[in-house]
Amino acid sequence: MNDPSALTADAVEAIGKSQTSAELERIEVEYLGRKSGHVSKLLEGIGRLSADERAVLGKAVNEAKRMIEGALAARRSQLEATRLADLAETEAIDVTFPGRPLERGQIHVLTQVRRQIETVLESLGYQVELGPEVETEWFNFEALNIAAGHPAREMWDSFYFGPGLLLRAHTSPVQIHAMQRIKEPPIYIITPGRCYRRDAPEATRLPYFSQVEGLAVDKGLTVGDMKGTLLFMIQSLYGRERKVRVRPSFFPFTEPSFEFDVSCGICGGMGCKSCRHKGWLEVGGCGMVHPQVLRNGGIDPSQWNGYAWGFGIERMAMLKHDVDDMRLFYESDLRFLEQF
Ligand SMILES: [Zn+2]
Repeated sequence: MNDPSALTADAVEAIGKSQTSAELERIEVEYLGRKSGHVSKLLEGIGRLSADERAVLGKAVNEAKRMIEGALAARRSQLEATRLADLAETEAIDVTFPGRPLERGQIHVLTQVRRQIETVLESLGYQVELGPEVETEWFNFEALNIAAGHPAREMWDSFYFGPGLLLRAHTSPVQIHAMQRIKEPPIYIITPGRCYRRDAPEATRLPYFSQVEGLAVDKGLTVGDMKGTLLFMIQSLYGRERKVRVRPSFFPFTEPSFEFDVSCGICGGMGCKSCRHKGWLEVGGCGMVHPQVLRNGGIDPSQWNGYAWGFGIERMAMLKHDVDDMRLFYESDLRFLEQF
């Protein structure tokens, strides 16, 4: 082909039909390649032409080259624009689309109640003491005046890892650890933590549960001091109108020992279905620390005395929120847990 304008027309048509940049590159080489491109070939034999003819042909060839280059550039930017538009469609990110809300968790109701109890007692000067959940029999029983073979051991039967080692049945061992560590009274501590007992799960008892115990060791403490502390705690948690009473009971580690009750919040002590018409709800146990327990903690009972109390955090949460089945706290049912 030796007609520059026909050649240009062919090139422009091919460029217009091209769909990829690779195709465009191939067309560019075919027409504008320095040695074997169609445009270069137009100049073959130019030496045999006259000067005038040479000028005309040269001008026509330059024109063809310029037009093909222009068409190539235009088609290239067209293809690029199409590619970007396609990309925008397939890889679209809509920055105005509303985000997925992050679901917020909340503090478990038992943790809430435990923290409230801690806050109230810390305001009285008590300090939180923690201890191991795996205990020796000595700390879990003997140190608390429950000798081997004592019938009271059945009340605190737990899970054993082998001779002498068990999951603690109460947080009382922490009291012994604390007395041994602190050595010099006055001691005012609370011992929140998980406990274990060999019980089948029921509405009012579980094989694992949480306790808070309190221990005060000082000079000349009385049952009145203990009752005042319990009353302050109960009224801080449940309201000023609540009352506390203690009833004689028995625990090997306190002498005298009591159960303590709180007046029913529904009937105000008059008696209703909730309190089984007693007007009172059982909360926990308490008493003056047995001298032998002080001795086991390394404290001289001729110089110091103390009181202690303990109750289940689940029990406190049930009373506070009127829950009638303890198992609900551990079943991880969000419909239940989200209420608190
Ligand atoms: Zn009642």
